Order: sequence, then structure tokens, then C-alpha cells
Amino acid sequence: MSFKTRLLQTFTRRQVSYTSIRMAGVQAVNAKRLQGKVAIVTASTEGIGFAIAKRLGQEGAHVVISSRKQVNVDKAVAELKAANISAWGQVCHVAKADDRQRLISETVSRHGGFDILVSNAAVNPVFGPILQVNEAQWDKIFDVNVKSTFFLTKECVPYLEKRKGSSVVFVSSIGGYRPFDLLGPYSVSKTTLLGLIPALAPQLYSLGIRINGIAPGIIKTKFSGALWSSESVQEQAVAGIPMRRLGEPDECAGAVAFLCSDDASYITGETVIMAGGSQARL
Ligand code: NAP
Repeated sequence: MSFKTRLLQTFTRRQVSYTSIRMAGVQAVNAKRLQGKVAIVTASTEGIGFAIAKRLGQEGAHVVISSRKQVNVDKAVAELKAANISAWGQVCHVAKADDRQRLISETVSRHGGFDILVSNAAVNPVFGPILQVNEAQWDKIFDVNVKSTFFLTKECVPYLEKRKGSSVVFVSSIGGYRPFDLLGPYSVSKTTLLGLIPALAPQLYSLGIRINGIAPGIIKTKFSGALWSSESVQEQAVAGIPMRRLGEPDECAGAVAFLCSDDASYITGETVIMAGGSQARL
């Protein structure tokens, strides 16, 4: 047997075992750590946000779905309800203050308050060398990815502080530690979230609220489509990942459920990296 064939067989065996480990984790949603909690998850009609909302719902939370388009909200809510998850949804473009306010007030009027905020929304309108970014693109990235994350959190605090064991999670990115080529401003916006988490943690904790983040590597969603839609590009992307595969949205969700639960009661100001072993350091 040639060296190349042996190498391929070893790699395939590893892939199978990684997949079965992942499936074991995903299927083991038996804990109801979030029973009765109410969770707002932004940008939750597909991809990572949807997977997080589903997992929080499976662990017993009532989930509030939102994104910019009503049709997407309706579809996501229907899918969650079909999976016996308590969910409803509303349009919320996170950069629109009125939308954020409506999302909060409707949640409070339906549930009397809420316990969890997962700030997941982000955009990237520009792909290219960093010096080519223009002011409008820069503003859009920082408006949605950073400013809205901060103000939504601030607007949620008066409600979160009324609930025992409340928690906030920001969705950052491995790109926040090590900027992606051609995604400079987006990466820096995610670095800002890495800084915002510990900046907020002491004051939030004085109000009884924990805040943490996740920093996913390349996860197979529409957002990262350019990195995996063709086999050759995917091969290139995977080559730099020690686990030699991309992540799936549901692999981000379990860590968020943990961070929002009492199992993480002594954890605040941290960001969990989930990037297949890729090194990350600021
Ligand atoms: P995705 O599958 O493309 O989903 C994006 C979601 O965001 C959709 O539900 C979309 O719905 C909603 N959305 C977009 N703009 C919005 C806005 N301004 N306000 C509210 N909702 C908005 O994306 P994803 O990959 O899951 O990304 C989710 C988060 O993970 C982002 O913060 C991203 O930076 C982060 N992340 C992703 C990866 C990755 O490889 N995929 C890696 C690291 C971090 P509508 O179109 O209806 O608004």
C-alpha cells in the first residue's frame, strides 16, 4: 500500500471518529439546564444563531427569534415549534434602535422579562485588502457588529438585572484574534468584541449578570459560503485547521447553552474558542 493511500485511510478514519464524537455531543441534549428561562437570540433565523436558539430551546428555554426579514423569522419559528420548542419571533435589524426597543418590549410584555441575551448579528459588506475599505463600509461593519452589540446589551441590562442567574453571550470570531486575509475590518470588529466582554464584565457582574463570548472558526453557513462552496477553496481553508475540517453551527450551540447555564456560574469575561484546534492569541 502506498504512503499516500495509508495517509488517506488514516485521515478518513479520523474524520469518521470526529464526526461520531460530534454527533454524540449533539444528541446528548438531555439536560434541561435552562428550564423556564427566556432567551433573546439576535440574527437567529439561520446558521449559528438558529443553532444556538434551537439548543437553548432544547434545554428548556423559551426562545425569541429575530432577524431583518419577517419571512425568515416565520420560517425559523415554525421549524422550532415543529421540534417542540417554545419560540416566537419578531423582525429586528440590530442597527435600528426602534427595532431593538420593540424586540425588548414585546419580550417583556409576553414573558414578564428575560434572562439571556445572545448577541449574534454581524455583517461583512467588503472583501478585499484592508486599505480598500471606504468610510461607509467601515461604518456599517462597526455599526452592526460593535455599536449595536453594545447598545442592545445596555438596553437589556435593566431587565436582565431583575432575573437571578442572567447572562449575556457575544458571538465573536477566531478572526478577532488572527485577522482573516481580505476580511480586515470585519476581523477588527470581532477583536473589539473580545475587548468589550472583559470591559463589561465587572459592571455587569455587580448587577448579577455574567457576560462571555464564543469565537468560532470557519463554520459551514451562508456567511462563510465563499470559503467552502468549491472543493478547492474548502481544501485550502481546511489545510490550516488542525482538526482538518470545518465546524457545523450546532457545534457552537452547546458551549453557549453551557455559558448561559448555572454550570458556568463562576465564569464571566471569557471567550471560548471553537476553531478545530487553530491557535488564537491576541
Ligand atoms: P448566516 O448563516 O449567514 O446567518 C446570518 C443571520 O443573520 C441570518 O439569520 C440573517 O437573517 C441575520 N442578519 C443579518 N444581518 C442582520 C442584522 N443587521 N440584524 C439582525 N439580523 C441580521 O451567518 P452565521 O455564519 O451564522 O453568522 C452568525 C454570527 O457568527 C456572526 O456574528 C458571524 O460574524 C459569526 N461567525 C461566523 C463564522 C462562520 O464561519 N460562519 C465564524 C466566526 C463567527 P436576515 O437576512 O433575515 O436578517
